[in-house]
Amino acid sequence: MLKRAISWLNPCANPECKSPRLRARVQYSGAHLGRDRFCSPECLNWGLAKQLGEILHKPKKSLIRRRHRIPLGLELISRGEIDTEILRKALQTQKLNPQQRLGQILISMSAVSEEQVTSAVAAQWAVPVFRLSPDRLPPAANLVPYFLMQQYKMLPVHFAETQNKLHVAFAETVDHSILYSIEQMLGVSTTPCIADESILMRLVTMAGEQGRTSEYFLESSSEAELVSMVAGYSMRLQAEQISAASCHECIWVRASSRDKTSTHFLFPLDPLRDALTNETGY
Ligand SMILES: [Zn+2]
Repeated sequence: MLKRAISWLNPCANPECKSPRLRARVQYSGAHLGRDRFCSPECLNWGLAKQLGEILHKPKKSLIRRRHRIPLGLELISRGEIDTEILRKALQTQKLNPQQRLGQILISMSAVSEEQVTSAVAAQWAVPVFRLSPDRLPPAANLVPYFLMQQYKMLPVHFAETQNKLHVAFAETVDHSILYSIEQMLGVSTTPCIADESILMRLVTMAGEQGRTSEYFLESSSEAELVSMVAGYSMRLQAEQISAASCHECIWVRASSRDKTSTHFLFPLDPLRDALTNETGY
C-alpha cells in the first residue's frame, strides 16, 4: 500500500508528459520501465520507444574475445587424466568431425568420464562445479526464458535471496554477456558455475516440456511495430514493471504484473536491424 502511494508521487519520466495528473493516475496506475515511472499508456509508449530504440541502434558488438584459457586437452593432461597419445588420437578424430567438441570425443573414446571433463572445463573458466540432481529442476530455472537456456546451454540453478545473487550453470562456455543481460533484466547479481552437460541439457529440456505459457517468441519487422507490440502486451497484462535488454541476437522483454507473475517476450534482432539498414539506406 505504502509502495503504491509512493509510486503515485513519483513524477512521470516522460519530459513531454501532458497527462492531466490526477485523471491519468486514477485511470492508470502507471508502469516502471527499469527505474523510470511512466504515468499513462502514452508516456509508457514514449519510454519504450526510447529504450528499445537505444537497444536497436547500439552497434552490433563484435564477438568478445575470450580470455586466454588453457586448452581442454592440456588441462586434462596436466591433471593426469589422459596422456599425449590419447589426446593426439582425439584431436585426429576432431579434425575429421570439426563440429564435435574435444570433451565429447574423449568421453566417447571412454578415455575420461563426463565428471572429469566438467571439472576440467570449470578449471579452464576458473569457476566452481555445480553438481545438479538429474531429476530435479531447480525452481530458479523459471526466472529465465527456455529459449535462452537452450540456446546458451545454461540453467539458473539457485537464487540466494539474502544476497540477491543468482547462480547460473553453463555446460561449455561461461557467457559473460548473457550474465550481464540477466543482471539487467532481473536486478540481481550473478555468479557462474559449470555443470555436467548431459544433466544440464536434460533439465533444460524438462523446463521446456513444462509448458511455459508465459513465454513468447515474436517477430516484428520494424522498430515502430516492436514498440507497439510491447506496449500492447504490457497494457493487456497490466504490467507494473517492464525490463528490456539485448541478448546476443535477440531482444528480451519481461513484463511483470502486480501479482508478480512475469511474462517473457523474445524478439529476434536481425529482421529489425535489416529494417533499420533499409530505412537509413546504408
Ligand atoms: Zn506521463
